[in-house]
Amino acid sequence: MTETCDFLIIGGGSAGCIIARRLAEKSAGRIILLEAGKEDEGDVAAIDLFRLDEQTEDYDWGFKASTFAGSKPELNYARAKILGGCANHNDCAFLRPPDSDFDEWENLGAKGWGAADMAPYFPRVMENTHVEEAPHHPASQIFVKAVTELGLTKIDFQKQISEGVGYFPLNAKGRLRQSSSVTYLHPLSKLPKHLEVWTQTLATKILIENGKAIGAETTRGTISASRAVILACGSIQTPQLMMLSGLGPAQHLRGLGISLVADMPELGEHLRDHVGAPVVWETHGPVAPWEVCPFEATMMLKLDDDAPAPDVLFHFGLRVREKYGEDPRLFVNGPAVKASPNVTRARSEGRVKLASADYRAAPVIELNYFSDPYDMRILMKAMRFTRRLMETRSFQTLCKAEVHPGPDVRSDDEWIGYIKSVCETVYHPCGTASIGHVVTPDLRVKGIDNLIIGDASIFPSLITTNINCAVMMAAEKAADLVLG
Ligand SMILES: Cc1cc2nc3c(=O)[nH]c(=O)nc-3n(C[C@H](O)[C@H](O)[C@H](O)COP(=O)(O)OP(=O)(O)OC[C@H]3O[C@@H](n4cnc5c(N)ncnc54)[C@H](O)[C@@H]3O)c2cc1C
Repeated sequence: MTETCDFLIIGGGSAGCIIARRLAEKSAGRIILLEAGKEDEGDVAAIDLFRLDEQTEDYDWGFKASTFAGSKPELNYARAKILGGCANHNDCAFLRPPDSDFDEWENLGAKGWGAADMAPYFPRVMENTHVEEAPHHPASQIFVKAVTELGLTKIDFQKQISEGVGYFPLNAKGRLRQSSSVTYLHPLSKLPKHLEVWTQTLATKILIENGKAIGAETTRGTISASRAVILACGSIQTPQLMMLSGLGPAQHLRGLGISLVADMPELGEHLRDHVGAPVVWETHGPVAPWEVCPFEATMMLKLDDDAPAPDVLFHFGLRVREKYGEDPRLFVNGPAVKASPNVTRARSEGRVKLASADYRAAPVIELNYFSDPYDMRILMKAMRFTRRLMETRSFQTLCKAEVHPGPDVRSDDEWIGYIKSVCETVYHPCGTASIGHVVTPDLRVKGIDNLIIGDASIFPSLITTNINCAVMMAAEKAADLVLG
């Protein structure tokens, strides 16, 4: 079967849903949005943030990543497989990045992506997106009070991103997610006729003829696209699909027997991610259940004087035993809370590669955490800062003692050992097909006509906040650029 359309968007995640909606508003041509996972509408595990744990294996691609250079791929690296993508799988923390992040993108060569250029895209996202704080759990309130006892300011993070403590704005209405599938596409039955959403359809190869993208092979046949093929498979699978299609580092592709279409040595490189590690405290008594999401409170610290914005973001978490279970590294006997700092503009770079020319094979994800010493230096400072919490009267009313890493960990070497043994991803991969390296500032893949990338892969650098809001702003801009 060959279908024809004007615009083919591959990947119905955070970015893909926005691009599809905006193109449909501005163009009369036929648009097909492909999503490998199932529909999310009416699926409570996907839409009700409180019921996230009910998502089963089939909501996720099941990827594993290697944490350090040369280590085994043992870290669960969640990537959603459902319409709405990782925004139907995430914790809905919704923070607008500070202007300095976009100005840094422009400094890195992303012309047109500076703070002034990006400013109009936040209100555009907010036209569709409802944002509110979850009801404040008593433990989250104590955390916020304890940090203010240490002299930090209480911040409304919906209004500003700066050093201080407060509550996460969530893109949610009560417990219901405000992911871009929900807010830009639902109800699917009322979509304009020229926008079709094909779920459970995997693109297996981008078709390229004479240097021009003309469509894709999919598990439902060939689809040709006359105006553009737009990739929105996320930072792991956009480079994967491109490599399967003959775009990428020549030697790597030849080694796997893939015919080279264009040598792109930087594709899949420069993978950045927020890396963090938890500090865990045992509490005096049981921690009451949360109402919406186990992450309500956050703290941001500016640890380097010359940093343009906070260099650490904390997730204060109410879910400890449920998350770590019997894992001996972070096991707790009784009720507990935790604070996980992560390095906001982490500098270590990893990569995504293919394991095989078979599209069914999971990609190789090498995170290469702490390959840049800056990341360990900042994280260690942040972990040490958490020790001060137990000095506050408020925190003492909640917590008995620090259990992980515990008071024996004091020297740099001890902290480094602990951090390396328990470090976690915050699931914010970006930069694997970045502006400058792989795409031009107008998001066109260099050297290939009619091929555009619109997801988190295009980030020139990692940003200060959780990245979904920035992905949505970038997708709004991508829709303009496709037509412009
Ligand atoms: C567990 C977790 C928690 C997170 N928490 C937060 C948070 O609280 N706040 C925040 O700001 N960010 C959070 N994030 C990150 C944020 O959700 C993502 O950065 C964002 O959703 C990325 O958007 P995207 O469009 O680039 O990719 P995705 O949303 O991942 O969308 C890609 C889509 O493409 C589909 N796809 C892939 N390959 C193909 C193919 N070949 N054919 C067809 N379809 C394909 C996938 O199934 C997926 O639906 C979290 C992420 C995870 C995983």
